[in-house]
Amino acid sequence: MNYPWEANIRKVEPYTPGEQPTDPSIIKLNTNENPYGPSEDIKKAMKDLSTDLFKKYPDAKATELVNELADYHKVGRDQVFVGVGSDDVLGMCFMTFFNSEKPILFPDITYSFYPVWAELLNIPFKTLALDDSFEICVEDYLQENGGVVIPNPNAPTSILFGKDKIEKILEANKSNIIIIDEAYIDFAEEGSSVINLIDKYDNLVVVRTFSKSRSLAGLRVGYAVSNPVLIKYLNDVKYSYNSYTMNYPSIKLGSAVIKDEEYFRTTIKKIVDTRSWFTDELRKLGFSLPDSSTNFVFPEHKSVPAKEIFEAAKKNKIYFRYFNLPRIDNRLRITIGTDEEMKTVVEFLQDYLKNK
Ligand code: PMP
Repeated sequence: MNYPWEANIRKVEPYTPGEQPTDPSIIKLNTNENPYGPSEDIKKAMKDLSTDLFKKYPDAKATELVNELADYHKVGRDQVFVGVGSDDVLGMCFMTFFNSEKPILFPDITYSFYPVWAELLNIPFKTLALDDSFEICVEDYLQENGGVVIPNPNAPTSILFGKDKIEKILEANKSNIIIIDEAYIDFAEEGSSVINLIDKYDNLVVVRTFSKSRSLAGLRVGYAVSNPVLIKYLNDVKYSYNSYTMNYPSIKLGSAVIKDEEYFRTTIKKIVDTRSWFTDELRKLGFSLPDSSTNFVFPEHKSVPAKEIFEAAKKNKIYFRYFNLPRIDNRLRITIGTDEEMKTVVEFLQDYLKNK
């Protein structure tokens, strides 16, 4: 139907989030959630929530959460910005920092939300090809640009980008903002984060999320750490758009989760151990895959097409993620679940591939 107002509507090609099935018997390994729930501290904090407080607006500055995060990362309280998941934080960063007429740069194979925000906000962009091993080529990011965004580790490749290479990009781009999206950094080798470089480079913004390593995808909390000047610019844009992004439960529960460091470390270790076992099993089954620094792996089978495996697994109530995109359309992205879940996956694959 042709509506008379059609010409005045902004038309966009939206981001496609992973499927969220409701059947609890499905082994859901398609959206990189953490199979171990949040800590006991969260359950306690939930009980302590006062429904009476819902009548009031929340603290627009989310002070309690900002302070907890600042103390956790040993940075100033004016160096943290919080949002509704890191998607919200990244969207705000694009809006605030990418206002050049020169194109922003990001890898050709990366988080598929980046081109969507760029299109939505009319930000020119250029994608730069990963090499044949899916590694980011640092030299590509030394050309003129209007800003850079790189996930580290990259998704969906699962590969970590060296800190020395990030420093090279920061050095070469003193008049542009460099966003490092560390959604999966807690699953990488210790010391891989660049948060400790924010005082050295005033063009660096590091973005983090509670959705993966903190098991809180459903709560929607993300944050950025940077210098006070850039954090102020981010807040100015946020207050010009929506002041009350962080609701009262997110502030309270988000603040509680940071306190349980022991549980946090234990669940990360479990996932990393399972990842190592699962990677070996996949290789025995004829898959090749990069060593993962995330809570997912990115395998390709030597003879069976990824799409077929994806569909067969789905019929068996095992959900993987499949991207029908150039260069990666023969790969699966498989989230690391519990040991039990991953054993079931291996059994399914052994059985399925036997007849191929
Ligand atoms: N960055 C990357 C690289 C991701 O894969 C995701 C998850 N889809 C996000 C950011 C956003 O996660 P969230 O909004 O749940 O914090």
